Amino acid sequence: MGGYRAPLRDINFLLQNVFEAEKVFAAMPETKEVTDDLISAILDEAGKIAEQLLSPINQSGDLESCHFENGKVTTPKGFKEAYDAYVEGGWPSLTGNVNYGGQGMPKVLSAMIEEMFFGANSSFCLYTILTTGATLTISQHASEELKQTYLPNMYAGIWAGTMCLTEPHAGTDLGIINSKAIPNSEGNYDVTGTKIFITAGDHDLTDNIIHLVLAKLPDAPPGPRGISLFLVPKFLVNDDGSLGDDNGVVTGSIEHKMGIKASATCVLNFEKSKGFLIGELNGGLSNLFTMMNYERLSMGLQGNGLAESSYQLASGYAKERLQGRAAKGPKLTDKAADPILVHADVRRMLLTMRANTIAGRALSLYSSFQLDIARFHPDEAERIRAGQLVSLLVPVQKAYCTDRGFESCVLGQQVLGGHGYIAEWGLEQNVRDARISQIYEGANGIQALDLMGRKTVRSNGELLGILFKEMEGFIESSKHIEALAEGLTKLEFLMGELKQATNTVIEKAKKDPDEIGAASYPYMELMGLTLFCFMWQRILASVHLAKVNNDGSEDYLNGLLGSGDFFMNRILPKSKTLLEEIEAGAKSLMAVTADQF
Ligand SMILES: Cc1cc2nc3c(=O)[nH]c(=O)nc-3n(C[C@H](O)[C@H](O)[C@H](O)COP(=O)(O)OP(=O)(O)OC[C@H]3O[C@@H](n4cnc5c(N)ncnc54)[C@H](O)[C@@H]3O)c2cc1C
Repeated sequence: MGGYRAPLRDINFLLQNVFEAEKVFAAMPETKEVTDDLISAILDEAGKIAEQLLSPINQSGDLESCHFENGKVTTPKGFKEAYDAYVEGGWPSLTGNVNYGGQGMPKVLSAMIEEMFFGANSSFCLYTILTTGATLTISQHASEELKQTYLPNMYAGIWAGTMCLTEPHAGTDLGIINSKAIPNSEGNYDVTGTKIFITAGDHDLTDNIIHLVLAKLPDAPPGPRGISLFLVPKFLVNDDGSLGDDNGVVTGSIEHKMGIKASATCVLNFEKSKGFLIGELNGGLSNLFTMMNYERLSMGLQGNGLAESSYQLASGYAKERLQGRAAKGPKLTDKAADPILVHADVRRMLLTMRANTIAGRALSLYSSFQLDIARFHPDEAERIRAGQLVSLLVPVQKAYCTDRGFESCVLGQQVLGGHGYIAEWGLEQNVRDARISQIYEGANGIQALDLMGRKTVRSNGELLGILFKEMEGFIESSKHIEALAEGLTKLEFLMGELKQATNTVIEKAKKDPDEIGAASYPYMELMGLTLFCFMWQRILASVHLAKVNNDGSEDYLNGLLGSGDFFMNRILPKSKTLLEEIEAGAKSLMAVTADQF
């Protein structure tokens, strides 16, 4: 047991030593004031919120869950107070558009805050990130009038946001949604339909909830090309900005689910609710992709956050729990047994958790830097390059970090043995809370398909070329570090495997379209491993430099070296079977008939 501790030292090492955040931000006029000192002061404060405000109501929120009575949702005890404190601190506006009350801070900062909030209390964090995603979409695609009406109060945290895509019969395949938008006499739309699984669809944290809803006009083209995006407030807003009539958004029920129990997952019925078009008619899906790239990154951060929390609980336990003796002879001769940390297999579990969590955090930061460069960089070519790179990285970061996150939670549970299965220790809640991150925002299988199909085969490997250029640049600039030689050779080898896998699938897909889906999951995993290897090499390069410069405690730096060494020797070899799996192709998958299942 024990509360969540913000991993500020690890985060700051990545930001300052590995990614040289201050230098990156100094090169862009809109972020040039984002110094290391400012970043670290903001993260310190966010860490306090995670530790002191969110972590204490994590377990109680899980036990109590949300309530649904008389058509209204109330959050568990303490959530409203914590939300008010979050608003008081000005956190909802952190990355917002400065023209409407936002602070214009980079994604890199909010990514690390999200990781800490998810680690401390995933249910709470979901209420906040949905609003951030909605404001981003409004800011980029809505009319000036909508921006002025909605953004300031959303940035102030007085109004919240949601994303309403899923319907009972339509999840992954949004092209078949039934929700309708009928033009009305006021020049807006009457939106009617049922949405399910809507996170934060109703709650008691804010005065109003601004739903972003996908619907189709009656004469819209079939499939995804006929989807439009509408802003549908729970309460209409009067001309003077005050709240007006109820807009016919009726909460049908809340779901009873495996985890994130303090997050309200709602069925929403839109009953001729007034909707305001965002962006072009029939352009809804592409407008929403703005939000989805950010939301998907957030899910990877949920995986990382819960993995970190599980690591903290499990490593603390392993130092205290006395069972068995060390293989080389007793360590604690005055005790009946040694701490389980002496056992190689317990170390395997803990180091797997630690090595993957650090690499996952680094990959999330690397992706967030690309989002910031795509948004703020003065050079258009740089913005385009970063935008393309992030579109390749996001499906891998989402799927690979959530898979590793869930794995870490289960490993943490295993370290605690039977106690890991018992609610009071917190590990079983982490397992339940982490599981959804592999499913929502596009199930991980769909992320893998997006990577393999749209981002790789259809671009003929062009996006991969951008990533390889980054890796080659790093390898070239690090060749002088003798201690990295073996690791860099392994990275080059993996890049070769990835290239081989890419060419194989591109060729096979020309003859059989099932080859794309058949290769997609192991391909995503191979890419994930390669990216984690790239991240570890970057971290190890910075550790060596810090050692040379006597910058940081020897013990801490050696700890990082140890985790990196474990990753390279014990996790990376898993790549070998992945290439074989990719090359095995579609035959054995598609040969089995429906009756044989
Ligand atoms: C707790 C929770 C919160 C959620 N929050 C929201 C929210 O705020 N807003 C919202 O709109 N939705 C939300 N969702 C919905 C969520 O995004 C969907 O559940 C998810 O996208 C998957 O859709 P589905 O459940 O309909 O599964 P399906 O689409 O039926 O998919 C089932 C399985 O088939 C696979 N599959 C489907 N199509 C293909 C294909 N073409 N190729 C290969 N495999 C395929 C999938 O990978 C998956 O494994 C939430 C869901 C939950 C459980």
